[in-house]
Amino acid sequence: MTRSRERFERLQDQLHGDAFIGGAWHAAPRTFTPHSPIDGDPLAPVADCGAKEAAIALEAASEAFAAWRARSAFERSAVLEAWRDLIVEDASVLAQLTSLEMGKPLREATSEAQGAARAVDWASEEAKRIYGETIPSRTADKHLWTIKQPMGVVLGITPWNYPISMVTRKAAPALAAGCAIIVKPAEQTPLTALHLAHLWQRAGGPDGVFQVVPTNDPGTLTDAILADDRVRKVTFTGSTRVGTELYAKAAAKLKRVSLELGGHAPFIVFEDADLEAAAKGILSAKFSNAGQTCISANRIFVHEAIAGAFADAVAASVRDFAVGDPFDEATRVGPLVNAAAVTKVMGQVEDARAKGARVVTGGRADGLYMAPTILSGVSPAMELFRTETFGPVLPIVPFRAETDAVEMANHTQYGLAAYFWTASVDRVMRVAAALDYGIIGANDASAVQPQAPFGGLKASGVGREGGKWAVEQYLDLKYVSLKVSGEPA
Ligand code: NAP
Repeated sequence: MTRSRERFERLQDQLHGDAFIGGAWHAAPRTFTPHSPIDGDPLAPVADCGAKEAAIALEAASEAFAAWRARSAFERSAVLEAWRDLIVEDASVLAQLTSLEMGKPLREATSEAQGAARAVDWASEEAKRIYGETIPSRTADKHLWTIKQPMGVVLGITPWNYPISMVTRKAAPALAAGCAIIVKPAEQTPLTALHLAHLWQRAGGPDGVFQVVPTNDPGTLTDAILADDRVRKVTFTGSTRVGTELYAKAAAKLKRVSLELGGHAPFIVFEDADLEAAAKGILSAKFSNAGQTCISANRIFVHEAIAGAFADAVAASVRDFAVGDPFDEATRVGPLVNAAAVTKVMGQVEDARAKGARVVTGGRADGLYMAPTILSGVSPAMELFRTETFGPVLPIVPFRAETDAVEMANHTQYGLAAYFWTASVDRVMRVAAALDYGIIGANDASAVQPQAPFGGLKASGVGREGGKWAVEQYLDLKYVSLKVSGEPA
């Protein structure tokens, strides 16, 4: 296997480790070095931005915002289209960086890059669909209407698990709305975010409108940005713990928030489901990105009459999954992101085993490489029933009645994505209404689309990304009342 460092060096000519501030590459006094989870190799030194870099980025963003908001929607759209084209053209570099930085199979990283381009594409169109409204007046001497305007400077904070699409999902709608955005990428994946900045620069994106400030001290950097009154909004994807802290900090200054937080998705297979389709669906809903996805199926409720057959069908496919180097075409599951992730996920497996679950397949890890695992006979007393897993573990919980399945599915603080499989249209209508989740896949394991709303209920977050809903999150609504004489001239 070629070492990660060697693969990285092949890309190096085009890469940046400096921060992207005010349209230029900006070295910071300190650096930090991400390591690849593939083999632990160091990748490259990256600027470690602090309060000083935050101040420079804020100045650049606020200056750039004034000019960017004044551009026509068509002009903003054209810049986003150029960025989209370069993301498509450079999808291979973005995908390789993603695999190197966080270990996702290259095939999945490539489709993430393509999906990111589609999100930018959609936002570029939405830029031209920002409408105001007229409001009926009681009297002839008044005209009432609304206009929508960009909020201002936005702080975006992104996680490591989708290093391309989490940046574009925030930046593209913010930019479409006319905002300027400062992105703080995850410590594990700054090089991918900086490459998106490089493509923005090549696309002719105006200086200071889109900036990337990496750091390995996220609290200090983001506190400095959030303390500034020019920042009107924070958009965050990550854990519920950090999201809750940021919500409180934003509230202290009455800043707007969008929070995309943790999930604990149920996947319900009813007795009338197409078993083959459901068994195929669970493979992607569970094992994409080694289960390190906020919408990963985490609790698999299967009707007791078919639970055994379902476990066998899924296990037959999963036993063939190649676990290993993300750059090998055959690899289906790469390494987990770090040792802490393996400890957490294996701890959940051990807890379930100790409380009576049966390991149908897997249940072991070799360094960061964890075998896809199926557990049967899982019950609500087990840790993995309550806590987000973020790993390739598929726990099967048998149920008897539809109401029991829905009740168990809703028995969590989270409310991001839920999936269910049935042949009954009546049941689709009933269960879709009863599940307390923001995204529902009915006989569909891949419900996420750039044109559709994405976001959660309860502890899974605040606000929506995707489609027209994303752009709305970056707009202020203004109401105008015009009094006229009402008399003919
Ligand atoms: P995390 O620890 O919350 O980190 C997310 C981001 O927040 C990173 O950029 C991180 O920087 C930063 N951060 C950490 N502490 C901070 C602080 N005190 N102040 C400001 N920023 C801070 O989450 P993660 O482990 O990277 O990501 C996994 C979580 O994200 C899971 O719970 C998953 O469900 C959730 N997620 C949700 C969605 C969604 O759309 N709902 C999508 C993907 C992931 P560092 O990297 O430097 O720590």
